[in-house]
Amino acid sequence: MFENLSERLGGVFDRLTKQGALSEDDVRTAMREVRVALLEADVSLPVARQFIKAVEKKATGAAVTKSVTPGQQVIKIVHDELIAVLTGDEDPGRLKIDNPPAPVLMVGLQGGGKTTTTAKIAKRLKEREGKKVLMASLDVNRPAAMEQLAILGTQIGVDTLPIVKGEDPVAIARRAKTQASLGGYDVYLLDTAGRLSIDEELMAQVEAVRDVVTPRETLLVVDGLTGQDAVHTAENFDARIGISGVVLTRMDGDGRGGAALSMRAITGKPIRFVGLGEKMDALETFEPSRIAGRILG
Ligand code: GDP
Repeated sequence: MFENLSERLGGVFDRLTKQGALSEDDVRTAMREVRVALLEADVSLPVARQFIKAVEKKATGAAVTKSVTPGQQVIKIVHDELIAVLTGDEDPGRLKIDNPPAPVLMVGLQGGGKTTTTAKIAKRLKEREGKKVLMASLDVNRPAAMEQLAILGTQIGVDTLPIVKGEDPVAIARRAKTQASLGGYDVYLLDTAGRLSIDEELMAQVEAVRDVVTPRETLLVVDGLTGQDAVHTAENFDARIGISGVVLTRMDGDGRGGAALSMRAITGKPIRFVGLGEKMDALETFEPSRIAGRILG
């Protein structure tokens, strides 16, 4: 088990004499603990450093009122700064899908949860926003993945584009676009192929699909437990394809959520949703305060 940051800081400040304001020394001592907590939560080192610098500035000289201990005061400053970094201007759950039919491109590596998340988002759009949704799988190398999307579609009552054997991803994307227009769909989600790692062929394929449909949203689905790898994947996809947001999956696992902070700080892209399990309802809008709480432990 991780030691909780509150306990750690409490310990540090117990050894210090209580003062009316946080001194530079107090803050420096506390920041050592904050740094360990961030690194244990899998926040990348440069992001942790930058974050601590910002907190240090705010904490030094901050008044400690009688109602809180110095440790609690530092935790509050750290918490508020985490929220500030994680919060964007946008409403994460509101996808830009006006002007029907709106194409949404789902991208990511194999096993990250792309197919599952595609269906979860389709269900959400259908149930919460009353949208008519079409899903299509472009993963021609993995017939099982195409079948999987069709099965999930049946389960959640969302249409999937019929599978035509031998069709390439661009042709499927074109057919989805036509079908979405003719069928009066509000939105169509394209579940692109995933690979075990980023390769040229995958990127070229996703790029070709992107150019055919001009997506309104391009959502990268990554496993939130993979920490720095998730951030690296996001940087790669953004550089090549351009992403409009990120979905972090497996946040029901015991990871500490540091990937979210690094993701936001390094890529500047909003985290839209978090996946919290395998079930179709296990998708939530990204909540900065929840992640901040997790990182702090
Ligand atoms: P894809 O290869 O990226 O399309 O990945 P899949 O959607 O097939 O997901 C791979 C596995 O991860 C499946 O067993 C999913 O049920 C599981 N999965 C997806 N999202 C989550 C999540 O948020 N939490 C958990 N625990 N499992 C998930």
